[in-house]
Amino acid sequence: MNPVIAIHGGAGTITRKSLDAEQERAYRAALDHALRGGQRILEQGGGALDAVTEAVFRLEECPLFNAGKGAVFTHAGTHELDAAIMDGRTLAAGAVACVKSLRNPILAARRVMEDGRHVLLAGEGAEAFARDAGLETVPPDYFFTEARHAQWRRALAEGRSDLLDHDAQALAAQMETSAETSIGGSTGMGKVGTVGAVALDARGDLAAATSTGGVTDKRAGRVGDSPLIGAGCYANNRTVAVSCTGTGEHFIRLLAAYDVSALMEYRGLPLAEACAAVVLRKLPAIGGLGGLIAVDSQGEVCLPFNSEGMYRGEARAGGARSTAIYRDDHD
Ligand code: ASP
Repeated sequence: MNPVIAIHGGAGTITRKSLDAEQERAYRAALDHALRGGQRILEQGGGALDAVTEAVFRLEECPLFNAGKGAVFTHAGTHELDAAIMDGRTLAAGAVACVKSLRNPILAARRVMEDGRHVLLAGEGAEAFARDAGLETVPPDYFFTEARHAQWRRALAEGRSDLLDHDAQALAAQMETSAETSIGGSTGMGKVGTVGAVALDARGDLAAATSTGGVTDKRAGRVGDSPLIGAGCYANNRTVAVSCTGTGEHFIRLLAAYDVSALMEYRGLPLAEACAAVVLRKLPAIGGLGGLIAVDSQGEVCLPFNSEGMYRGEARAGGARSTAIYRDDHD
């Protein structure tokens, strides 16, 4: 097997007009840094699980993305983070939801999986579990970033709850500059945040990981697709590893990540067709916006989205790393 990793940092109305050259460089550098972390592990013979954990960890540490540092605000002015990880070899999985004090939710999800007793821990129980496991906790202001705070205040002022991260960004930009950036549709979803990684290692094992701060101005206690196995994250060595980003409620209703796997397993669809069915047909049919990253058991990669753009990248062991943002980027 030729190992491969793919990552995302959110999808949405990301047009060339919406980012200046410096912002674009910063996003590409951050994506490359995350890819490099995962790629190196794969090149050294490491496992897919370690590669996706490292890539998502790096994206959580970067304030540009809506996960870990840089997470969006809830309506209550707090941060509630969700994350999940899945091992395609054993179908073992772990997830945390609504955690407020864990610096790296993906590491907590990994511990939940390794512990093996439960799959999903939420809120204070998840935090206590992670603390006991020795994971780093941070005070609430660790997650504060000026940019997200401005997005949230503008969402509040506009009465625009549940904005996807990059929608809120677009709204903020629009209000600041009266630029033409359109906020997509009546659902107010132009761009989406969240990070994820999928990988295939030299042994043929697949893994997927997803981490998010959710949607801007969400209700306290709201849980999206990201920590729900089968919705925003899924891996199965028989088929595919998938990590999603987008309007979480729609991805939950479709079990989007699992649906890609099911279409491959039960209908024998090739990866690209299974991805297209979910992202380009089933999601839009119920108003869902966003995309996903997928790598199958043969090392094929597919990065489909139905929004204007998606922060994304892929790299094979020993190969060049490529990053892309816009629809017309060649990745
Ligand atoms: N899917 C995430 C959620 O609904 C948001 C995102 O991808 O930006 O929580």
